[in-house]
Amino acid sequence: MRPDQLDALRDLVGAERVSTDDAELAALSRDSSYRSQKLERAGRTVATAEAIVVPRDTDDVARVLRWCSDNAVPVVPRGPGSAVVGSGIPLRGGVLLDIRGFNQVLEIDEHDRRARVQGGILLSDLEVELNRHGLTGGHYPQSFYLASVAGGLAMRGTGTFSSLYGSVEDRLAELTVVLPTGEIYRSHNSPRASTGPDLRQLFLGSEGTLGVITEVVLKVLPMPESRRYASYAFDRFEDSLDTTRDLLAAGVVPAVLRIYDPAETRAKHVHFATAQGTWLMVLLFEGAAELTSAQARIAEQLAEAHAGRAMGEEPARTWEEHRFDVSWMSDQVARDGGVAEAVEVCATWSALPRLMTRMQEAASRTMGRVMGHVSHIYSDGASLYVISSGDYPSDEEALRAYDRLWQDLMQVVTEEGAIISHHHGIGYERAGWMAAEHGEVGMNLLRAIKQVIDPAGVMNPGKLGL
Ligand SMILES: Cc1cc2nc3c(=O)[nH]c(=O)nc-3n(C[C@H](O)[C@H](O)[C@H](O)COP(=O)(O)OP(=O)(O)OC[C@H]3O[C@@H](n4cnc5c(N)ncnc54)[C@H](O)[C@@H]3O)c2cc1C
Repeated sequence: MRPDQLDALRDLVGAERVSTDDAELAALSRDSSYRSQKLERAGRTVATAEAIVVPRDTDDVARVLRWCSDNAVPVVPRGPGSAVVGSGIPLRGGVLLDIRGFNQVLEIDEHDRRARVQGGILLSDLEVELNRHGLTGGHYPQSFYLASVAGGLAMRGTGTFSSLYGSVEDRLAELTVVLPTGEIYRSHNSPRASTGPDLRQLFLGSEGTLGVITEVVLKVLPMPESRRYASYAFDRFEDSLDTTRDLLAAGVVPAVLRIYDPAETRAKHVHFATAQGTWLMVLLFEGAAELTSAQARIAEQLAEAHAGRAMGEEPARTWEEHRFDVSWMSDQVARDGGVAEAVEVCATWSALPRLMTRMQEAASRTMGRVMGHVSHIYSDGASLYVISSGDYPSDEEALRAYDRLWQDLMQVVTEEGAIISHHHGIGYERAGWMAAEHGEVGMNLLRAIKQVIDPAGVMNPGKLGL
């Protein structure tokens, strides 16, 4: 950016709200993606912004976006940076709009069970405030302590209790978005509407390419009266899937249902000797005590009908205790030549067994260790994770292996007709597969939407395969 452009930004929001400090620029130009973390070890970035702007309020955001549009300067909204696919990396330089200061709870309505918040608030901070009112957001991604409300919406993320509470699209009531032109769009906040297409959906998964989410109304829930835990071991993946399908068909909706393959069972539940070598299902039910005990009872009957062996509460409790702990992955990435990646996709029930086998085979071609699990269940299918790690002589070789891993995995996923991301999003790491995912007509639609909303093409350019 030219010096006169930096001066113009300072005039717009105040000099103290614009930073060009090299260390700050580098830090905020990174995210939690593997590539970004690897380059950080070498003191590098994938790309670096030229200025950080810290807006005071929605009007500041509008002023900055309008100015960026008028001056063809790229601008990328930046939350806490927990995204794992490079979504927030400023590929074309320009401005990082740091909305982490938008972190206030504006209103909690206990009667209508809603919370109005600023977009940059951390999920965990919001949850503490909700809990004080006897409420919960029902949204606990593994990055609960790292991610913001707006970041989750922008990535179309989900939480570990999604089977009962849904994903971000189910928790959203209203949003306020500043468009790249500086106009401010506030959606309706009715429980439902038949007023044409739901415009809120445009911004879910937009990854900062269509506007900046400044304010959000979320649907919240009373804290559950009880929790129940159960675990079952299966010799065959298919039996665990059939149990899950039958559970849902019977109207039993666990808050959490995860099925670990034998390798992940060993890695995560090594102390449960009788579960070794099996597909381990962990279940957690939430709600009224009578309801959760009935659900647990039905689950037991159905698991046993599909040759599942009861493993007691402990594996499920262990999962709950360690659910935010990903230290082994961070340690592996921090190691010279180390690779670790978790790739999440989604498919219908019948596709899952073959998809799991083929993805694991593909990952094994590059990585030394591979494991996987199913989580986030739906009436018609589920999300599937393949987690792999490997060791290479150098970070350069590790990055090459990482790229091969993605190529191989995405190839399988598209061949199998599965979706390329369930909740981590596209960023630039998955951008190369967007055309295969959406087809030519779909990509043209996306481009047309982008052109209408962001005619100057300044918002987070280079993402979503656009
Ligand atoms: C250890 C770990 C575990 C994870 N587990 C989960 C999980 O269980 N479920 C899940 O869904 N994800 C998970 N993730 C991924 C990550 O937490 C999400 O992608 C998260 O939603 C990103 O939110 P953020 O606030 O950190 O946004 P950032 O990383 O700062 O930004 C992400 C993207 O959103 C855009 N953006 C940010 N704020 C705004 C805004 N106000 N308006 C418009 N666009 C904006 C940015 O431009 C960028 O493109 C995990 C990540 C890590 C590191």
